[in-house]
Amino acid sequence: MKSKNQKQMTESKDNKVNIGNQKDCKCCFQQIHISAKVCNHCSRHQNFWARHFGDTAIVVSIVMVILATAQFLDTRKKNIDASSALTKAKSAAEDVNEIRIEANIIKDEINFNLLLTKASNYDRASFFRLHDLAITDNRFQKDAKQTIEQIITRP
Ligand SMILES: [Zn+2]
Repeated sequence: MKSKNQKQMTESKDNKVNIGNQKDCKCCFQQIHISAKVCNHCSRHQNFWARHFGDTAIVVSIVMVILATAQFLDTRKKNIDASSALTKAKSAAEDVNEIRIEANIIKDEINFNLLLTKASNYDRASFFRLHDLAITDNRFQKDAKQTIEQIITRP
């Protein structure tokens, strides 16, 4: 029943039959109900302010989306830069650590050579320290054993 009435009304609009309770849409000029706030053909507001404020709201929304996107991209770029700087800093810290390890190895070798020299010159404390190195597992063990052998078999 209701749909039949709507069909009849549509036909009368299309045929531009002017019924007393109808008016022309301000945008598409199709006939719409006199009290309609929104055109059922083009969906535009019949009130000037609603029509233009509606458009403005859409433009403002689009601008805000663009600004938000730009800000997001800028933030992401900054994050990438920070991440890159962090990676470089970590790499530099690893280099420093490797250099420190190397320096400690060199320091140990210098101390061991000093110990060999002192032990060879009959320094008792150095000889016992060398003996400790000869009987424990360490990287100087072989050299320590050889030097002790040389000292005790020296004529
Ligand atoms: Zn319209």
